[in-house]
Amino acid sequence: MNKLSRHSFVFLSIVGLTFSFSAYSKEIRIGVSLPTQRDIGWVRYKQGLEDAAKKSGAKIFIQVADQDASVQASQVDNLLSQKIDILILAPQDAAAAAALVTTAHKAGVKVISLDRLVLNSNLDMYVSFNNVKIGELQGEYIAKNLSKGNIVLLSGAPTDNNSKLLKDGALVHLQPRIKNGNFKVVTEQPITDWQPSVAQKIMENSLTANKNNIQAVIAPNDNTAGAVVQALAAQKLTGKVFVTGQDGELTAAQRIVAGTQSMTVYKDQKKLAAEAIKVAMEMAENKSVNTNGKTNNGKIDVPSVLLAPIVVDKNNLDKEMIQSGLFKKEEVYKYI
Ligand code: BGC
Repeated sequence: MNKLSRHSFVFLSIVGLTFSFSAYSKEIRIGVSLPTQRDIGWVRYKQGLEDAAKKSGAKIFIQVADQDASVQASQVDNLLSQKIDILILAPQDAAAAAALVTTAHKAGVKVISLDRLVLNSNLDMYVSFNNVKIGELQGEYIAKNLSKGNIVLLSGAPTDNNSKLLKDGALVHLQPRIKNGNFKVVTEQPITDWQPSVAQKIMENSLTANKNNIQAVIAPNDNTAGAVVQALAAQKLTGKVFVTGQDGELTAAQRIVAGTQSMTVYKDQKKLAAEAIKVAMEMAENKSVNTNGKTNNGKIDVPSVLLAPIVVDKNNLDKEMIQSGLFKKEEVYKYI
């Protein structure tokens, strides 16, 4: 090879390499808008999304709205201005978030609803746990373990579609027993913004109104269950009243071994986060996505990927939460 052709060979090789490298490495930009970090599930989602995006070579932009729907709206605008290819949205307010889906679509960005469903919108995908099933597991636990009694039926934030699904699920098992008179729902209230302080107040009032004659509480998640347990503790009733939960908080696991909370419904949020990233990448690359259901959001049937939750009580806690590597034995049994 003479000098000139050697030069052009080197030049063409570099061009070729650069070209093929960029053809394979079009970086996918994933925007994520989360409602909060207060409950452990959202912390695990954030971590799981970051880890999975890193592994997949995607660039991820995560914003947390701190329980404020208008903050979430401006954060979504901000994410769109960062030229994201796809948006993963867990709405603070299921109804208000419909406008965010429209805005994203106007910018040519598809939207995946994570954990919580965006209502009345042309949502592209829903990736979640089966929330009706979670409610069913809570209701079933009470129906199996209690033959007769007064029940406090708490539900999550009215702005969160999961709250309705959970309650519907719980009622599948409670309703027949309410109908035949074995169960009496003495208090039925939603918990504004899923706030533990609100749950505690409702529980205190219910105990007073019913002269402590309460046998079971449907608490929709672990943080509100913790608040219910505090109200029971003030009346020296812990361990005497069935209390449900959801998420798999460490404090819930500690209460389960102590006997003050009866159960939790554990969701492997990191697994769902990895699934969400996989789906996001496939959608961004216009590939087909494997779904396992459809969820109606009031406007359309949204293609869905729904994972199954696991019910945990003192019988399987070691297996599901310690042997699985989620928690260390000494942290769960810390107060025993
Ligand atoms: C989630 C729960 C969480 C709750 C409060 C729900 O939408 O499914 O895991 O505990 O919000 O943050």
